[in-house]
Amino acid sequence: MIPVNEPLIGSKELEFVTEAVSSGWISSEGKYIHLFEQEFAKYHGVKHAITVNNGTNALILALRALNLPKGSEVIMPSMTIMSCALACIYNDLVPIFVDCDADTWCIDVSQVDAAITPRTKAIMPVHFYGHPADMDIVLSIAEEHQLYVIEDFAEAIGATYKGRKCGTMGHLNCASFYANKTITTGEGGVCLTNDDTVAAEVRKLKNLAFVPERRFLHYELGFNFRMTNLQAALGYAQMFNIDQHIDKKIEIAGLYSTLLQPLTEKGFIQLHTQKNGCKNIFWVYALVLNKDLGTNAAKVMKALENKGVQTRPFFFPLHQQPVFKSFNWFKNQELPISEHLSEQGFYLPSGLTLEKETVEIVADALIQVLNEIV
Ligand SMILES: *Cc1c(COP(=O)(O)O)cnc(C)c1O
Repeated sequence: MIPVNEPLIGSKELEFVTEAVSSGWISSEGKYIHLFEQEFAKYHGVKHAITVNNGTNALILALRALNLPKGSEVIMPSMTIMSCALACIYNDLVPIFVDCDADTWCIDVSQVDAAITPRTKAIMPVHFYGHPADMDIVLSIAEEHQLYVIEDFAEAIGATYKGRKCGTMGHLNCASFYANKTITTGEGGVCLTNDDTVAAEVRKLKNLAFVPERRFLHYELGFNFRMTNLQAALGYAQMFNIDQHIDKKIEIAGLYSTLLQPLTEKGFIQLHTQKNGCKNIFWVYALVLNKDLGTNAAKVMKALENKGVQTRPFFFPLHQQPVFKSFNWFKNQELPISEHLSEQGFYLPSGLTLEKETVEIVADALIQVLNEIV
């Protein structure tokens, strides 16, 4: 089976993690936490990088740190991971779902204005599969209505929008270092911000809301969302190769796109785009099956699995998640692009260890499968 993803772990990773283990600093204190945070902040040209134990908790903490009134609304795309909605729900906030753009698969910024109410307090654009959301529009709507912007750049570390890196444009921005992300710490996440006060708040909250004056004295309810020094050692080592990781993703995408040309020319599949002024890092290599083919992602994914190719579907749209149906804020919505993508979209093996020959095998398998179907 060709795996959908494999992390790229080099000798530096092994060296630093070994060093962290033998130093005895195996919990959340130790030099690698600082080195990793410093390096990640520097890479983004942002003042503060605060590591946490996963990307979901980074989002939860970001919204907690903003201290929004109960019931405040946060506008986000429906086509994203559950984590974005959980970040609201666990903070007594309400997620408001809008559709996504048919080409970038990011939040459809033309729908944001209509979703704003007096309770709206933030917008959470998600840079989808490596493509930046249309941040000029997001930021100008946010400015006009005095809203916070929280970028979820988990899938777009290193992507740029008009020369600016994803993760640097919002007030407080979150990423993940899960094994399939651009750089990994196994499990891990980060909040980036230039705001000193918010940074201090995030730092306090992730560490049980300890205060400096007296250990074990608490004025606030915190969390233990700390990253370990072992994880940070892995992450710090990964920082030495972050740009190579990004280049490799883009190279894989270029290769797939060339090989799959017979399918795009026939209009069988839609590929991800790269809008003017944007750098898509092609975090995964995704495609959407044309509805007219009379098949769907699930069927094609099954056929590919039978040929030894592992794939993953797009997210299930948040506005249709069964678990939300019992919430008082739930409303029946039709968001056709998100629904279409979740029916017809999936991604191919896109890991950093992928060889050219393997990409060719995968592309051949897909061409065969689709030619058999139509
Ligand atoms: C991976 C991911 C997350 C959360 O990551 P975890 O570290 O697994 O909690 C959040 N948002 C997006 C868009 C992601 O892809």
